[in-house]
Amino acid sequence: MDRSSFSARFASAGPERSAGRSWETACALSRSRREFLRDAAGLAMGSALIGGSPFLHGEAIRKKRKVIVITFGGGARDQETFAPEGQENIPHMMAELVPQSSFFSHVVNRGILGHYVATASLATGVYETLNNFAAVPPQHPTVFEYFRRDLKRPATDTWVVAPSNGFNRIGESECRSYGAGATVILPKHLLTAAQPGGAGLDHLLRDNYENPLYTPELGGGEFELQQLDQILRLSVADFNAHARTLSSPDELSVYIAKRLMQQEAPSLLWITMHDIDVAHSGAYSLYIEGIRRTDRLCAEMWQAVQSNPEYAGNTTLFILPDFGRDADFEAGGNGFQHHRTGDPASRTTWMMVLGAGVRQGVLYDQPMQSIDLVPSLGAILGFSAAQSEGKPVPELG
Ligand SMILES: [Zn+2]
Repeated sequence: MDRSSFSARFASAGPERSAGRSWETACALSRSRREFLRDAAGLAMGSALIGGSPFLHGEAIRKKRKVIVITFGGGARDQETFAPEGQENIPHMMAELVPQSSFFSHVVNRGILGHYVATASLATGVYETLNNFAAVPPQHPTVFEYFRRDLKRPATDTWVVAPSNGFNRIGESECRSYGAGATVILPKHLLTAAQPGGAGLDHLLRDNYENPLYTPELGGGEFELQQLDQILRLSVADFNAHARTLSSPDELSVYIAKRLMQQEAPSLLWITMHDIDVAHSGAYSLYIEGIRRTDRLCAEMWQAVQSNPEYAGNTTLFILPDFGRDADFEAGGNGFQHHRTGDPASRTTWMMVLGAGVRQGVLYDQPMQSIDLVPSLGAILGFSAAQSEGKPVPELG
């Protein structure tokens, strides 16, 4: 898509003049992010490369290809991440992950900025309009359903590990022509079931920082306690003992995700981080702590890929936020705390791709949208995201 048509699509939501200004702000955000990364991580511009595609297609890679998607929990601003003053909060990404990645500095989310609906949109490639605070499935087929139907994969080959009990229906859409998707593991739900009463683990059970009163009734395709033993090979006692060593819900999610990689080695694994969203509490220090932890956990996941023979060498890792956070200059947003204004800072994010078939150390600043993720995964894994409204990112081949 050329810039003017993308700009028109981006701008269509609001009055022409302010939309034009929003577009300029979004471009400025992408430009500054691009410059931060060129300076600090030594990335080269993708447009300077012959060919331009970050993916090096090859039969050896295609045969056992695996994909892991991590959503960078709850969204963070550049001031606290990629800007020079923020880089100390993401040392692992800056030193280990970014330099070996293809980095997309201009990802726009034009949808509803609630975590469940936005993550569902990332998973379907359509801006979903479902109620963010209801236990309902996505309206359009999910990436997990495309993957399983087109590639004839069993249920054990794709999983979702989700932070919030409100995500229990994200694995399968309401589309009857699809409907066999991913099993969703809700680590907090497991922990509650394994340890009735919490027993001092309240810090691992914090859920849904925006609407603490929302507690959905479960009853989707979620993972049941008895499968802890059968699938993850974890006794309730071991699970409880390990949980006592963890500091946050996202640490619990990563622990579960690593067990899944060891026991089931799924080819499509989706992990949704959420610790950073503690920002809604207004405590800046907790928000920063969440960013630092998420940075470390992303690196741990990458290390888990490298140390697992089922994954090393054939896995492509995607890391991207569901959306950003409000800018300081938007009075209604209180800066880092919320994502309620829909301003460019809350809509203009990034995506990091690394691993199998990916060009290292390349930066792409062409605009893309959140809904382009699923068709891009389809292009890599070989399924058709038939109902997605996004497009495969041209730079992804
Ligand atoms: Zn939030």
